Amino acid sequence: MHLSIKHQLFLKMATSIFLLLAMIFLIVFLLVQCLKKEEDTYYPNEEAEALILISEEHPCPENYYTQLTSMEGKMISQKMKDHLKAMMKQSCTDLVCLTLATGYLEDVSVLEEPDSLEVSNWFFEESSSSQLEHETGLAIDFSKGDQTSSNQKMWDWLENHAHLYGFIRHSEEEPWHYRFVGMEHAKIIKEQNLTLETYLQTNEKEGI
Ligand SMILES: [Zn+2]
Repeated sequence: MHLSIKHQLFLKMATSIFLLLAMIFLIVFLLVQCLKKEEDTYYPNEEAEALILISEEHPCPENYYTQLTSMEGKMISQKMKDHLKAMMKQSCTDLVCLTLATGYLEDVSVLEEPDSLEVSNWFFEESSSSQLEHETGLAIDFSKGDQTSSNQKMWDWLENHAHLYGFIRHSEEEPWHYRFVGMEHAKIIKEQNLTLETYLQTNEKEGI
């Protein structure tokens, strides 16, 4: 089959235009991907802080808001997601592998003790200030099973490592309950053996 010169020219032009459009499409696609990637990138130097004090005297404010996200089937504050993820990864490397039992709870005052699948038994042994912290999405209970013996290794690991990821233990009596405050603050609180309340009071006194 012989194409006329006119047809051949038309085909060449059509092919060139097609290639040009394909190239433009590719460039735009790559640009969009680059911008998207930049948005998703986590900058570990941008320290996430979470210094809100929660106790019976200072319950979670009604207008408190934190972006929630899911991890291992538990809801937690987005603020601590990367830190918790990194901590869990390291715990598995150290052959301990943390288990999340309770994360964010909407309103602890309405909870009753029966074995809810959502809430660990350890939760019901907590002080009310620890329980209230779960309303912020910044507290997390670590437990696997109801026996202390099956948890001891995990709790010992947390005792030595949690502050490196921005978490502090709420009290001696509750080795399963950790609260996210941010790496810088957790390090000081741990080193000086403070509670969040005394740490905040000291900072206020010094005008930091
Ligand atoms: Zn707890």
